[in-house]
Amino acid sequence: MTRYKSFHAHSVDDPAAFWGRQADRIHWHTPFTQVLDDSRPPFARWFVGGTTNLCYNALDRHLPERGAQDALVYISTETGAERRLTFAEMFVEVNRMAAAMRALGVQRGDRVLIYMPMIPEAVFAMLACARIGAIHSVVFGGFAAGNLATRIDDAEPVLIVSADAGSRAGRVIPYKPLLDDALLESKAPQPKVLLVDRRLAPMPLFPGRDTVYPSAPEPGEPTPIVPCEWLESNEPSYILYTSGTTGRPKGVQRDVGGYAVALATSMDYLFGGKPGDVMFTASDIGWVVGHSYIVYAPLLAGMTTVLYEGLPVRPDGGVWWRMVERLKINLMFTAPTAIRVLKKQDPALLRASDLSSLRALFLAGEPLDEPTATWIARAIDKPVIDNYWQTETGWPMLTLPRAIDGVEIPAPKLGAPGVPVYGYRLSVRNERTGAVCAAGQKGVIALDYPLPPGCMTTVWRDDERYIKTYWSNFIGRMSYSTFDWGVQDGDDFVTILGRTDDVINVAGHRLGTREIEESLSRHPAVAEVAVVGVKDTVKGQVAFGFVVLRDPTRAEQAMDRLALEGELMQTVDRQLGSVARPARVLFVGLLPKTRSGKLLRRAIAALAEGREPGDLTTIEDPSALHQIRAALGFAG
Ligand code: ATP
Ligand code: MG
Repeated sequence: MTRYKSFHAHSVDDPAAFWGRQADRIHWHTPFTQVLDDSRPPFARWFVGGTTNLCYNALDRHLPERGAQDALVYISTETGAERRLTFAEMFVEVNRMAAAMRALGVQRGDRVLIYMPMIPEAVFAMLACARIGAIHSVVFGGFAAGNLATRIDDAEPVLIVSADAGSRAGRVIPYKPLLDDALLESKAPQPKVLLVDRRLAPMPLFPGRDTVYPSAPEPGEPTPIVPCEWLESNEPSYILYTSGTTGRPKGVQRDVGGYAVALATSMDYLFGGKPGDVMFTASDIGWVVGHSYIVYAPLLAGMTTVLYEGLPVRPDGGVWWRMVERLKINLMFTAPTAIRVLKKQDPALLRASDLSSLRALFLAGEPLDEPTATWIARAIDKPVIDNYWQTETGWPMLTLPRAIDGVEIPAPKLGAPGVPVYGYRLSVRNERTGAVCAAGQKGVIALDYPLPPGCMTTVWRDDERYIKTYWSNFIGRMSYSTFDWGVQDGDDFVTILGRTDDVINVAGHRLGTREIEESLSRHPAVAEVAVVGVKDTVKGQVAFGFVVLRDPTRAEQAMDRLALEGELMQTVDRQLGSVARPARVLFVGLLPKTRSGKLLRRAIAALAEGREPGDLTTIEDPSALHQIRAALGFAG
């Protein structure tokens, strides 16, 4: 057995050898001539000269062996719809969609914006783009018109694929009016619009611009076969805008070959996914987790992917787990925020289903606090595996690999997502000097040049912004900043302490808001918590904690609130010391989050300082802000 540490060292010391071998996992139409071109930092090109196609690798390649296997299982608890498609059926649907795009004039290199609810056509559209070499830009369905307009202006699509409506918690959200408004607002050349009619909302058409996509082929109509465009490995496959937790979203550009190889490798080593397995990633195709682990990685690996429209607790907290039993799901992937929602439910609901097919639950997107990790691991009695990454990287940078042949994987440690993933030269560095921090010292999580395959290649049409945003830090163009704050221990495990702009400075002590959140969440009454730094004339900054209780009635009376606030402060005192004690702990029913489930600490801090909350275009439920305001009112 090799130790994981030496396996990792080899992957970064000789990246050409390591990734050259991994490249066999996908089909190349023409072989590459060079594994890595690192002649122009910070840009890196992988598998130079090789041509391939993501759709070919996701579908065509599997037809001989897996034509009759399910490729996609669609379940909507919003509409009651359910649909299963084998690889052969998916192939037909994707070709039909590709032909429709072609008929509307879409060419290789053109952008297609996908503004869709979670329906199979959204996946068909992504794969159809990949097939014809068009660059997709999936925008989270239901985003406000202004939001959509900025993305239209940035990507200048020739086609927008959309639908009449989405549905959330049983409420229909018409998309078409939002899209019409966005197109009025946009300054980009007018695109064509292709619409899927779910018959959920009226959908008046704009003549000459809008076409309705036929839900099924005409009887007897032959299936069009649209040949795959063979793309050079470094041509763009898609643009995806970051969540916008910290500011103006950036158009992350991804390549073709590097992405395919990175995902195929990760599915095997990090997730332990094998051909024929069933994977349920409960995310949205509008986020990077959806791109990589609902659509591309499972299909590249010849697995069945489950596409789910709905909430984790509707009709009740057992819904996902009944799906595990019925669909014999092997791997599940979601965000900690979904588990925190479940935590308010009875764990018996989870255990009522037969979960024997399930091998592991993967979580990513936000810090996984220990109590949540322990709660879910106990409730389902399966390994719970945290992984840390960003839209920019496309696949995990920190986790514990599931299994790599002949390699000994370290045992997990609660509270840390894991160790640096093969391919990533990850270190924790001092944010001023750039020096690598000693074990136990806090710093910025950085990646040394070159980034491995699958990571962003640039900001769409803006190389300067890419360099300025990510690479213009302490050590010039050789180190990428994640803008996350962390600490590495002597065994290489890295704990995430929060975003660099969430670090607060209390009387000269630098504290990650994450550390205080983790501490507060250990109190059994707490379901969810956000900690932010608030300006203070004496200490510079103080921490405010906003807590959602598992049982909200515990904070109804002012006396109970005070008692609980005191208890929570003592919890922090005991665990982190009194410097970290929040100046106030306030109780709310709901925390403001982005649609992808990330806390909007920036907006909470602004409210606490009496400022306007700033850009809120990606907020999930604006009423959460009123609750923060109201709670601050209680605080006087
Ligand atoms: P923006 O970059 O526009 O502000 P964002 O950073 O929220 O938005 P994403 O790329 O979706 O957009 O999120 C990546 C970030 O999420 C990471 O940089 C990190 O802060 C956080 N994150 C992701 N996974 C984890 C994890 N397992 N543990 C802790 N934090 C995580
Ligand atoms: Mg980010």
